[in-house]
Amino acid sequence: ELTEIMIKSGSLLAQVAFFLFFSNLSVYPSVFHKRYLKKMRDLGEGHFGMVTLYLYDPANDGTGEHVAVKALKQENGHVPEGWMKEIEILKSLYHSNIVKYKGCCTELGGHVVQLIMEYLPLGSLREYLSKRKLGVPQCLMFAQQICQGMEYLHTKRYIHRDLAARNVLVENDSLVKIGDFGLTKYIPEGDIYYRVREDGDSPVFWYAIECLKESKFSFSSDIWSFGVTLYEILTRCDPRQSPPTKFTAMMQKDTQSQMTVIELIKLLDKQLRLPRPKDCPHEVRMLMEQCWAAEPIQRPSFGSLIEKFEAVRQ
Ligand code: ADP
Ligand code: MG
Repeated sequence: ELTEIMIKSGSLLAQVAFFLFFSNLSVYPSVFHKRYLKKMRDLGEGHFGMVTLYLYDPANDGTGEHVAVKALKQENGHVPEGWMKEIEILKSLYHSNIVKYKGCCTELGGHVVQLIMEYLPLGSLREYLSKRKLGVPQCLMFAQQICQGMEYLHTKRYIHRDLAARNVLVENDSLVKIGDFGLTKYIPEGDIYYRVREDGDSPVFWYAIECLKESKFSFSSDIWSFGVTLYEILTRCDPRQSPPTKFTAMMQKDTQSQMTVIELIKLLDKQLRLPRPKDCPHEVRMLMEQCWAAEPIQRPSFGSLIEKFEAVRQ
């Protein structure tokens, strides 16, 4: 009798697995055919990519699903190496606070040109925050969710390197997800930092002091950028209080752009930091300052930040 039950439940299990496998295939095809993608509107663009809203509608009757499609800005025909990395990294991440990978789309020539991900209707945190009046508790809830997504990323030994409100996406009034893994790097076991070689233009005002001085990126430098992101959230992404605006105002004279990094380092070396946002609770200001400790090892981890947010939000 026991073996019979086992056989029965075994075949049931196989059926369930079979069903899940095929239903998954139909709901999340990983190769999207370009001919079924109908362009709806542009969603935004950053340094490297263009993101567009499409309706994926193979039945051609308007019943399809909305997807966000990221394409590289045309770089004279060739596909940069980092682009495939971005796709591979996103593909390997599964977390409720990280944007979901859906598939990719290949051009006739065979090279992958588009990354297809879930569409988050409320756009980036930057757009969202400047449109509504968010209370402090909701700000802290979002901050904690960012920490949760980042803690997961760090356990997978990735550093993000571009954490900022513009790269956090909003699903609804109580859920945010980290998006844009364009600068993410893998840190091999045993190593503690990644040193950049290429000299692209970088989001310097979100960078930790050792990144500016020595191009050393680590788990701790993501914490620094989180501190700046937390500052952006609590200033509700007001452009007059943005990190570039505030830091530029702190610098003497009219600094030329090539001098910006040097001036920024001088300023940070003097222990100058972004100001406390108006309605920022004292404990949260303390967290921000800990994220901006000059010594990387003195900064908290995302795990400990999560605990602290939980305590403050009580
Ligand atoms: P880049 O690598 O060029 O910075 P991002 O991935 O940050 O590109 O995307 C640029 C902008 O496009 C974002 O700031 C956001 O406004 C919008 N966007 C990106 N992904 C999505 C998405 N999945 N759903 C909705 N909007 C998105
Ligand atoms: Mg971006």
